Formats: sequence, structure tokens, C-alpha cells
Amino acid sequence: MIRADGPISVERYMGLCNEHYYATRDPLGAKGDFTTAPEISQMFGELVGAWLADLWLRAGSPRNVHYVELGPGRGTLAADALRAMRAAGLEPPAQLVETSPVLRAAQATRIPQARWHDDVSTLPANVPLLIVANEFFDALPIEQSLQTDEGSRTLKVDYAEGRFVRSPADPQAIVETSPASRAIVRELARRLNAQGGAALIVDYGHVRSGVGETLQSVSGHGYADPWADPGERDLSAHVDFEALEAAARAEGVEAFGPVMQGEWLRAMGIDVRAASLAKAAPEHAARIAAARERLTAPRQMGSLFKVLALTAKGWPRPEGLS
Ligand code: SAH
Repeated sequence: MIRADGPISVERYMGLCNEHYYATRDPLGAKGDFTTAPEISQMFGELVGAWLADLWLRAGSPRNVHYVELGPGRGTLAADALRAMRAAGLEPPAQLVETSPVLRAAQATRIPQARWHDDVSTLPANVPLLIVANEFFDALPIEQSLQTDEGSRTLKVDYAEGRFVRSPADPQAIVETSPASRAIVRELARRLNAQGGAALIVDYGHVRSGVGETLQSVSGHGYADPWADPGERDLSAHVDFEALEAAARAEGVEAFGPVMQGEWLRAMGIDVRAASLAKAAPEHAARIAAARERLTAPRQMGSLFKVLALTAKGWPRPEGLS
């Protein structure tokens, strides 16, 4: 494409890379490129399920709700959350938004009764939605631009001397935005207002919009060059929670947070859950304690990851995000 038509935007580059990357592998776990919260411990998905079930109960237990997950990976979070919801008397149909055929197959082994969607446009209408997205928005393409005297300039990726280059290379003054993320949040918020329900968005990122490059590439659990091996390494960028919140509020939904993942998990009772799991399986006590630490400690995932909740007008105030 670059040879034929010239340099492409960073947004297009990232979109094409990740489309190929996720379509051709399961990137999660010890043998993959990175690990996510639901793969670290069942406690994560269980507490997400408990949070949804609590909201649902306080909303008057509407019978027609659907569970929606964006980018469900291996389906681990959905399986753990649905199990926790079942214990509270909630058994919603599962609607999974996933583009990767490899990951759809993995999800089908855990949630065989689910329905799959290429994007949010085909989600059911006229029913309340309980929406979850963990490490989904960080994988969506970002646009990079530079503020110059002549205004804003969109950065492009070129191909020269056998390698891809983004120019100029100086990362300090780069402004990143994710039009794709904003559009999806707007659509979810519009549906929440029309249909009822709530959304829980968990990701790594910052509370306030800022300047500076955050695009990163991860391969085999280490950092890699984002401009090398396109489509063979994971590309992600910090989620701009301020921008997502603004997009949601513009559609009239209530937004709560973002709070740090560690705070939210503690407010949701991760310490009690860890103690009860350890009591039931003392041989795994050390592993359970290590997982709780990894999910909540500020130096690990506890403060880099944030939790943002959106609720339809008239729905109850969510737990753990004050
Ligand atoms: N939520 C999972 C997986 C995170 S990895 C977990 O926490 O373990 C990102 C997920 O989003 C993968 O399932 C990937 O295939 C999916 N994904 C990436 N881009 C997507 C897009 N544009 N549309 C739908 N799904 C996408």
C-alpha cells in the first residue's frame, strides 16, 4: 500500500497490524506475548460478575438483560463472570464482540451458547445490556499528531530501506487520540440510554488526556519495536479515560470513576474472596496470594489499570467507584 500510494497514517498501520495479529493467534498466557487480569486469577471475572449482578438486583432484576463482552480473549472472564452471576440468580444470554476466528474458537469452548458479533452495531436492541471490556480499548488503533505552528499534523508511517519508519520520531510532542474507541463508547452509551444497563471498562491508561507517545509493542512478555514485524507483535496504547468519559457523557449516560483497579478490586471484596479460595484449597494458598498481589499492588497492575463505569439514566449507582 505504501509503495503504491505513499505513507499511511499511524492509525491505519496499527489497525492493520492488530487485525492480522489477533486473527492469526491466541496471544495470551505464559507461552504467548502478554497476560491479562482474567488469565491471572478467576477472582477478577468473579468480581466483575458480582458487580454486574449487584447492579442488576438493585435495578429490579429485569429478566431480559443480555451480557455483552468486547474482545473476550479466551472467554475466561466471561465464564467466571457468568458463573458468579448465576449464583445471584442472573443467567443472561452472552453476546461476544470478537473479530478473531482463533479467539472465537477459544471462546466457544467456554461459552458454547454465546452469539458472536463483528462489531457493536449488531448487538440486540430493546433489551438492557450488561457490558464488559477488559483490555479491549488499548488494542484499538490510535491516531498520532503533532501540534505545529501551522496547526495539527497527522503522523504517517513510511517504508524505506527495508523497514517501516514513523516520522518524525520525537515522541515528546505527540498527541494521541483514538477515534475508533470514541465511536464505540458513543454507540454503547447511546444504547445504554435507549435500552438500559451498564458498562464496565477496565484498561491500562491515564485519567487525564495528555501529550506524549504511549504506543507500545509487546512480544514474548517484553517490549519490542512497534515498527518492526508488523502484525506479528501486539500493538497497544494507553487508554485516554478522560476522552472515553467525555464521549459517554455527551450521549447522556452517567459515568463513575475512573478508579485504580487495585482500589476497585478491594472495594469489591478481593481480600475476602482470596481468603475463601485459599481456605478451600490450602495447597494453592501461595498462588492465590500472589495473584491477588499482582492484580492489586500499585507497583504491578493495581494503579496503572483503571476502572470506568457507565450506567443508563435511572439505573442504580455502581459499587466500588465512588
Ligand atoms: N479481554 C481479554 C482479551 C484482551 S486482548 C482478556 O482480558 O484476556 C484484546 C481482545 O480484543 C482480543 O480478544 C482481540 O481479538 C479483540 N479485538 C481486538 N481488536 C478488535 C476489534 N477491532 N473488534 C473486536 N475485537 C477486537
